[in-house]
Amino acid sequence: MSAAAETPPASSTRTPVAAQVSTPSGRQPVKNTVHWFRKGLRLHDNPALREGLTGAATFRCIFIIDPWFASSSNVGINKWRFLLQCLEDLDNNLKKLNSRLFVVRGQPADALPKLFREWETTALTFEEDPEPYGRVRDHNITTKCREVGIKVTSRVSHTLYKLDNIIERNGGKAPLTYHQFQALIASMPPPPPAEPAITADMLNGAITPLGADHEDRFGVPTLEELGFDTDGLKPPLWIGGENEALLRLERHLERKAWVASFGRPKMTPQSLLASQTGLSPYLRFGCLSTRLFYYQLTELYTRVKRVLPPLSLHGQILWREFFYCAATKNPNFDRMEGNPICVQIPWQKNQDALLKWANGKTGYPWIDAIMIQLREEGWIHHLSRHAAACFLTRGDLWISWEEGMKVFDELLLDADWSVNAGMWMWLSCSSFFQQFFHCYCPVRFGRKIDPNGDFIRKYIPALRNLPTRFIHEPWMAPETVQQDANCIIGRDYPQPIVDHAKASQVNIERIKQVYAQLAKYKPPGSSIPQVLQRPNVTQSSPSPTSIIANINQSSYLCSQTSDSASQSSPATQIKDDGFLRPANIRSIATNKATPFKQVVIIQQERNKRERTVVEDMNGSNNGDTNKSIKMNDNTNTTQNLEKSGNYDIRNLLLNNCIRKFSSDQLAFLNQRTNKTENFTQDIKIDEYSTSKPKLFFTENGVMPCHDSKQKITSNNFSNNNHSKDSDTKVQSEDSSNEHNMNIKDRPTPSDSQDNISDNEKK
Ligand code: FAD
Repeated sequence: MSAAAETPPASSTRTPVAAQVSTPSGRQPVKNTVHWFRKGLRLHDNPALREGLTGAATFRCIFIIDPWFASSSNVGINKWRFLLQCLEDLDNNLKKLNSRLFVVRGQPADALPKLFREWETTALTFEEDPEPYGRVRDHNITTKCREVGIKVTSRVSHTLYKLDNIIERNGGKAPLTYHQFQALIASMPPPPPAEPAITADMLNGAITPLGADHEDRFGVPTLEELGFDTDGLKPPLWIGGENEALLRLERHLERKAWVASFGRPKMTPQSLLASQTGLSPYLRFGCLSTRLFYYQLTELYTRVKRVLPPLSLHGQILWREFFYCAATKNPNFDRMEGNPICVQIPWQKNQDALLKWANGKTGYPWIDAIMIQLREEGWIHHLSRHAAACFLTRGDLWISWEEGMKVFDELLLDADWSVNAGMWMWLSCSSFFQQFFHCYCPVRFGRKIDPNGDFIRKYIPALRNLPTRFIHEPWMAPETVQQDANCIIGRDYPQPIVDHAKASQVNIERIKQVYAQLAKYKPPGSSIPQVLQRPNVTQSSPSPTSIIANINQSSYLCSQTSDSASQSSPATQIKDDGFLRPANIRSIATNKATPFKQVVIIQQERNKRERTVVEDMNGSNNGDTNKSIKMNDNTNTTQNLEKSGNYDIRNLLLNNCIRKFSSDQLAFLNQRTNKTENFTQDIKIDEYSTSKPKLFFTENGVMPCHDSKQKITSNNFSNNNHSKDSDTKVQSEDSSNEHNMNIKDRPTPSDSQDNISDNEKK
């Protein structure tokens, strides 16, 4: 995670260090070891450190942090806090060996050569880093150290196997399916057992020389010292460190023993929360050895079941191993372009939608609660990851998996370069797939796991008082219900960002198009997998449990493209991508029978300073339809209209959700001669920056009101590029003709230009 720790030292032309510490002939040179911690932040199962201690006169354990990098890096504060706790814990464990951890500030390229000279280092040890970037860095370090006579030793302990051996067994290529991977490891000797923890006995007299200034120079820094603002930081749910990891392992195994004896407990909303048995951040930082976990699980199974365990017992850690293996020689594993195992999909750029997703403001409570939990706590459940990843990519927003991966990388305590990228490719149908065409419905999936909305209420206080019936789709709640719950959708909680039904259909169609193209143009010898034969076949993801399989067969997946959609135009012609722009934002609500207030029209009668507000009310609200309210209007501003009529300005607008209508926003009177023409303008209306149209409909053409800052006339609108095709018909639910109107479906300010043009290109 620390770039500093992963930067190779600069080339050095200084005198070889080992030569300086040679002892008189006939005697072995003194061995002064430096063990460099990067991952593998533990004393148990640390074969490289053990090797370094053998025959050493001195040893020093270092970790490198670049303070500048710390505060400017794209790594969340929770993750930094977790790392610092791991370092504190390591320091405490080393104290028990009369040693200390040396946290070195600076760039490895500058810091290491200086320290090697100062400490007269002759041996450098570290855990082998299986990831491509780390491999290059370690290769460079090894070369430089050898130049100055320092012996470098690295040992495999972050993964179960030496990944090169698996690849070699597969003819030099990483296996690209999990089945292939399983077959390969089944033909290999089992992974080596975990080594015991380093104890004082193992030091054999090796000491750590400690200066009086150790704390100042090499103490573990605080978050504040690294430049983080810790105000408002909540207490951690995950405490970093080896001691905590080992406690958790015990609890994890107790639970596994219970599960083995009594069966798997049901998935409940509680399962979505951080648990005391969770291990993933500890495996990620190497506070816990994968091999220890592997063998303790084996031992437990054999004890409880009295038979040898099946390979599937180790499913989770083997999936981890699989992704590490797939990534180890692919430096482009975390991106689409230049990545030979990734399908090239024309994702759209949409910064606004990405930010809403990343900050839990999509308007879909299940997705938002997940993203808020991730941001606040640094961990989310496997199924939550599925839901969030599907929503961002092929499910709803059609945004590249790379963007989602980066957000997870920033916020997840367990974010692992290989596993994270691999899972994102998987979830976005970009690689490792078989028939994974399923799209999770952000409402039904959430409801299935969190039927009472407890999880949502925990993370989204604004929705706390909403009745359970609406908690997963609050925009469906009638206005009175929203008022009673003190949660007006569009004000206190965002409108849904997309119409999921529409977006998912469109995106399923897009994916089918991509795969159809792949089938046609698959280059000979390409590693792109075969096109899917049966898109509708259920297929589990690399899930640790059978939950995923159940989900894939259940009704909270979105159905496949409907017949009409699948026969319809190809993706290149898709016009409506399901994003809820002002004109269609409420169509999502009209799909169901839940009543909503409909459309309000302001008319100004010729030569009268009086407006008629025609409000089309949905019958089920209060039984009235077609209410007309006469109001005096001396200023022609909607703001005054609001005041004078004591009339909630929301009702002048589509979607009933505009509360704050400040004076610098525009009001228009329609001054067109043709009164059947309509006029819309998008305005920013709430803290979510959602844009909604104002719609004014009078006899007299369009004119900005006198105090408006923005000059928009009918000409502006004739200049916009939208064809008649983009007009959307909004119809009141009582279907009375006078309340039907065509509304120009202008892109909102929140739609990036990229997005629009991409759409139009398609
Ligand atoms: P357990 O279920 O107890 O599993 C134990 C360990 O096995 C985990 O710590 C992990 O190391 C490994 N593991 C479990 N499931 C998987 C899997 N499907 N693939 C690979 N390894 C697995 N897991 C990560 O460790 N790092 C990531 O960066 C990561 N990113 C993910 C991104 C997406 C989009 C998705 C869908 C999943 C991701 N996972 C990742 C996999 C999985 O969600 C987590 O490992 C799991 O939720 C961790 O919870 P746990 O400790 O209870 O794991």
